[in-house]
Amino acid sequence: MASANKPSQKQQAPQASGKETDGYALVLKGIKKNYQMGSSQVRALRGVDMKVKKGEYVAIMGPSGSGKSTLLHILGCLDSPSEGKYFLDGDDVASMSDDQLSMIRSERIGFVFQAFNLIPGMTALENVMIPLQIRGQQEEDSRKTAIHYLGIVGLGARANHTASELSGGERQRVALARAMANNPAFILADEPTGNLDSKTSVEVMSYIHRLWEDHKVTIVMVTHEPVVARYSQRIIRLRDGVVESEQRNKVFHDHDSARIDEKSIKLK
Ligand code: ADP
Ligand code: MG
Repeated sequence: MASANKPSQKQQAPQASGKETDGYALVLKGIKKNYQMGSSQVRALRGVDMKVKKGEYVAIMGPSGSGKSTLLHILGCLDSPSEGKYFLDGDDVASMSDDQLSMIRSERIGFVFQAFNLIPGMTALENVMIPLQIRGQQEEDSRKTAIHYLGIVGLGARANHTASELSGGERQRVALARAMANNPAFILADEPTGNLDSKTSVEVMSYIHRLWEDHKVTIVMVTHEPVVARYSQRIIRLRDGVVESEQRNKVFHDHDSARIDEKSIKLK
């Protein structure tokens, strides 16, 4: 890897080295992903080109099966593409070792995935603390950090409940607290409001929005809810494994730095 890749480097100004990846958090070129299913092949991604600037907030939309989760798994270095190039902060992901990839996943990317489960038998507090301890934080420090972020997502009183005792919305918020506590450069969220009630959806979206506004993280969020997507700066639509269209978000720009509340965002 060319850079030391500390989380604090995420807000670095683009360097003028003249590379086409300069200023971009994520650059995808011709990304294809095939899955072998017995004798047939599923072409989940069929050549995706995409660039996301540092600090940009992008929503990915598209019908079920269009490749959204596959794309997010590749962006999160959880899976590798069958073809194509992926540059993360200018570095070619294909050239990275397994150790480097696992460091990137634990230090630079915050995952808010439904399938990215919490450890059910552990408390909310432990679920947030453990990744911090893996990264070398002392127990007391990691406890303080975890309590702080659980408080931010409104779960201070639930910190000592096990994940299995929490509702879906509360678990999603623990996942968000865990992602935030890691101070990641990127947040990858896969339908973060899926299966949440309206009030909790608004809360989760507010946290994500605040994280973006206050910490300038780069966000790529898959959602099927237009009202959720409109709080991003740009919407990328996938269909059949390719980018079908892109749109700058007019509503967002009309309500620059809008705070999300239940009046401004209505979810079913
Ligand atoms: P989306 O998130 O947009 O609903 P996915 O990325 O999950 O779409 O899936 C895209 C396509 O790839 C679908 O046809 C799906 O069935 C297929 N697919 C996804 N993951 C796998 C897998 N692990 N093995 C085989 N096929 C898969
Ligand atoms: Mg999906």
